[in-house]
Amino acid sequence: MKKIAVLTSGGDSQGMNSAIRAVVRTGLSNGFEMFGVRKGFKGLMNNDFIKLGSKEVSDILYRGGTFLQSARSEAFKTPEGQAKAIEHLKNKGIDYVVVIGGDGSYRGAQALQRQGIKTYGLPGTIDNDIPLTDYTIGFDTTLNVVTDAIGNLRDTMSSHERVSVIEAMGRNCGDIALQAGIASGVDAIIIPEVKADINKIAADLKAGFERGKSHSMVIVAEGAGKAEDIAKEIKTLSGLDTRPTVLGHIQRGGTPSVFDRVFTSRMGHEVIDLIKQDIVGVALGIESNKITYHTFDEIFATENKINDHLYQVFQDLI
Ligand code: ATP
Repeated sequence: MKKIAVLTSGGDSQGMNSAIRAVVRTGLSNGFEMFGVRKGFKGLMNNDFIKLGSKEVSDILYRGGTFLQSARSEAFKTPEGQAKAIEHLKNKGIDYVVVIGGDGSYRGAQALQRQGIKTYGLPGTIDNDIPLTDYTIGFDTTLNVVTDAIGNLRDTMSSHERVSVIEAMGRNCGDIALQAGIASGVDAIIIPEVKADINKIAADLKAGFERGKSHSMVIVAEGAGKAEDIAKEIKTLSGLDTRPTVLGHIQRGGTPSVFDRVFTSRMGHEVIDLIKQDIVGVALGIESNKITYHTFDEIFATENKINDHLYQVFQDLI
């Protein structure tokens, strides 16, 4: 009987629970023995395994976070740390490990793969910064959280005729800012992939107020700058009352969206299919609404790019 372990690693994201549930339930339906590893690679080194039946993954589909918990571990990057993890897997007779995490976690999965453990990656990060997938797990939910927050800020900015500069997560990737910005009809989007002309942004915002606007919204991706600095600059250049807001960790929480629940269910189902076919060392994604997979090497060799068309859509709508 195949024995399969699943773990969540790196930053958590909404939809990880749904992915775990899908892997476990599909594995059980195929007669496999399923294990969870608590706290990511750290738990793998510390022999922190739990046996997972259907009941253990009940009531988690609609919960944010990850019930297996997540961790970052420097020790796992060392050959000694990886040897410990492999020893525990071998002792339990576990051949397959499904890693739900971001690009760092994929490096860890690849390291295990190279040492004979059959590994799989599911793109668990809100940042949408993994190549060869249109969406990462939690990204869609985060867009909804950010879009709601911008709506709330707009109400109060309107009452006081202010400019709001909102800082969104995403590390070096501007996707959260770009897509939440389009969904919110903001006036300017500042992302690391496109050089911002702050003088033009300030002049456009000023002109908007002169035309009678009661508020203006600017979204900045954390990789492109700090809301506080950008708000100060806009205020100096335009004279407008400009307030910064850092959305912070609120973006990582909340009940996963329908999209995140459905696509993680599909990916969890698909990974068991790949295990049955003994296709190994791959990470899954969703491309043009199809569940796809690529080797870790292919993923690391591909540059993650902003969707230029979407950026153009935004430019044409302001
Ligand atoms: P997020 O994008 O949400 O931050 P992530 O998976 O990229 O998630 P990281 O902290 O980069 O988060 O990586 C998670 C863990 O993966 C690390 O703490 C480490 O244990 C393991 N890891 C990262 N890089 C490597 C590597 N080169 N070799 C082995 N393991 C690694």
